[in-house]
Amino acid sequence: MAPDKVSLVRCENYDKSTVDAAVRRSVDLLGGIEKLVRPGARVVLKPNLLIDASPEECVTTDPAMVLAVGRLLRSIGCSVTIADSPGSFLPYTAETLTRVYSKSGMLAAARELGIPVNLGVGSREIPYRQGRALKSIKVIDPVLDADAVIVISKLKTHLATGLTGATKNIFGVVPGLEKKAIHARLRTPVRFADALVDLNERLKPKLQIMDAVMAMEGDGPTSGRPKAMNAVLAGTSPYAVDAVAARLMRLDPMRVTTLQAAARRKLLDINGIEVVGESVESMAVRDFALPYTFVHAASGSILRKATASAISCLGLDRARPEVSPSCKGCGACAKSCPAEAINIVSKRALIDRSKCIECYCCHEMCTNKAIELRKNFFGRALDRAIVRTDTKG
Ligand code: SF4
Ligand code: SF4
Repeated sequence: MAPDKVSLVRCENYDKSTVDAAVRRSVDLLGGIEKLVRPGARVVLKPNLLIDASPEECVTTDPAMVLAVGRLLRSIGCSVTIADSPGSFLPYTAETLTRVYSKSGMLAAARELGIPVNLGVGSREIPYRQGRALKSIKVIDPVLDADAVIVISKLKTHLATGLTGATKNIFGVVPGLEKKAIHARLRTPVRFADALVDLNERLKPKLQIMDAVMAMEGDGPTSGRPKAMNAVLAGTSPYAVDAVAARLMRLDPMRVTTLQAAARRKLLDINGIEVVGESVESMAVRDFALPYTFVHAASGSILRKATASAISCLGLDRARPEVSPSCKGCGACAKSCPAEAINIVSKRALIDRSKCIECYCCHEMCTNKAIELRKNFFGRALDRAIVRTDTKG
């Protein structure tokens, strides 16, 4: 297998000219845009538009990134559309799309580029006989009608998978509530990771661009904190791009469930990635906070890394969701829960433990930050042991 190439370029801020230069260089390091996308092709740009959040919140791809990629494609005569289907409890309607495009800055970016955003709500089922978890997949129309898809992801931590970046971003091509149905069918992290790899293998995006100028640390993908990483990444393999991104976060790539799934299928050779541009060592963020579900084991001894990996593999660092007193009873968590484990009782969310599959969709979708995560005694004790080793190392 030829090594997967990933370009890593410094980008200090979201000034349009700075981002333009960084995106162009990241693509040039891969051989140039014309080598990756046929001039004149119909291209869909697929940013991360999880919820209606403003760019400063770092939940969604920054519009400057979409502008830069759009300009690059227009320079070779491509027709470009921005398309996505936001989070798993948001219905795929023109109203949802308008709200999310507007707040995330995509509408303004599209106007500046003179390109459309997709407001259609059609989707089609496509077969995938080779799929491990999905034998057929419902996908939004613009993606199926395009000659090429370019994924413009946002680097964020993720409580369930470790990180969300290139590989997981493709889930947004599944329309609206169908995402929740997939979560409900594939109840374990392993099965869900296989589904994400299935989607990537079936749709084969031509190019991955990752917005890691401002990343999200802590309990992502919605409740974490913005963290400067000052980087743009690009590549053709979503798994290789995510593996390099994990190293920038100082997270062992083989602890990321989607990368484990790719490696099991021999789609990722973790030691065979060629990084061009900046070095990972020069760009890695030393004090990057991992999610609560991933004990901090970003640096230090082999023993500590091995211990952390073993804890992850055994699922001992997983946590249970709990509703905090700040719950407003809005019901967004109940709508997002694939296991139907949440009911609103006396204006407060109530979780049925016997049904919960610990997918953390409720945490992801509660914009009031009223879902907290707690580990059991054993998990907390292991965390403390790891952190103690960390401070000694
Ligand atoms: S936990 Fe959050 S999403 Fe759920 S009802 Fe309370 S405030 Fe709403
Ligand atoms: S209660 Fe939360 S973590 Fe549990 S299954 Fe529902 S959405 Fe997932």
